[in-house]
Amino acid sequence: MPEFLVAPVRLPSLIPKLIGPVADFGFVYTHGFLPCCWTENAPITTELRWNGLVTARVVPLGFWGRAYATFSCDHCGNTIYFENAVCERCGHALGYAPQANALVSLTEDSGAWTSPALPGERLVYCANAEHAACNWLVPEGGEAYCAACRHNEIVPDLSNPENLLHWQSIERAKKRLMYSLIRLGLPLQNRVEDPQHGLAFRFLADDQTVPVMTGHENGIITISLAEADDAERERRRTQMGEPYRTMLGHFRHEIGHHYWDLLVDNKPSLDRYRQLFGDERADYGEALKTYYANGAPDGWYNTHISAYATAHPWEDFAESWAHYLHIVDTVEMAAAYGIRARPRTGDENLAIPR
Ligand SMILES: [Zn+2]
Ligand SMILES: [Zn+2]
Ligand SMILES: [Zn+2]
Repeated sequence: MPEFLVAPVRLPSLIPKLIGPVADFGFVYTHGFLPCCWTENAPITTELRWNGLVTARVVPLGFWGRAYATFSCDHCGNTIYFENAVCERCGHALGYAPQANALVSLTEDSGAWTSPALPGERLVYCANAEHAACNWLVPEGGEAYCAACRHNEIVPDLSNPENLLHWQSIERAKKRLMYSLIRLGLPLQNRVEDPQHGLAFRFLADDQTVPVMTGHENGIITISLAEADDAERERRRTQMGEPYRTMLGHFRHEIGHHYWDLLVDNKPSLDRYRQLFGDERADYGEALKTYYANGAPDGWYNTHISAYATAHPWEDFAESWAHYLHIVDTVEMAAAYGIRARPRTGDENLAIPR
């Protein structure tokens, strides 16, 4: 069992900053830094509203039992994992059907796959399965790429074995991001559907002269392939003095910038955003220069989710967004392992309503 529960605490003010007051969330810390929260009392779906705008939907724990770690083979009952393409016990091929949020066992049927869990559907693997980079399914005769891979705009040269390994690792993190976005009902359009703001990924290998900068611009998320190298990523983490640095964390942060564009910019929630996060019209380049020169102001942890969130209101939003996704997924995992909050305390701030 993973080391999860340390102690339930009150929801810090920074999380409601993003999602609004959600009074019945408990809150725990893992390993001293990664927060997670959960509720057992939510109705079937809780809509997180922000200035009247639905920004996300939360599905309560009972439904979340089918988490990454606890899918089970619908053929033999074996515990299977999100990235599995075959059941180790019964040998059935497995694929993830995003429309059903199910990792299903598959039987070959004249060039396609069928599943007892999806009667009447004929499925094939995403085209990236041939590179061992995807186990998601698409309807036979439809798009070649799955709901997650259709956003890929540039992938590295896969004839280079190191590139292939790093890209496969990036794809694993990307799938977990996409899983969350689909589950939360967030808008997901690619560049064909929305040429201005559609979501696209560019996974770029460093060339010898110019290092690739991980970042977001107008729906295009660029990820440096070098970040998939654990040793290199750890070196950067140490250099930046960060408590943790993960590929999935990069995705969650950059997608936060994308959803700021879609959900906040020029939307009625912009005023509310400025009240909570500050005025994003502050010079971005100057703000980052100041942050890298001076670091975060003393006591930043009383007002921000991370030191970097102090750099600029856009970064505050992206960091808060990323941590919200950390929380949701950690809760899902904790719930899947049967962890429940039942604090014995007279402190009403810590009590979780029954
Ligand atoms: Zn099986
Ligand atoms: Zn795919
Ligand atoms: Zn950022």
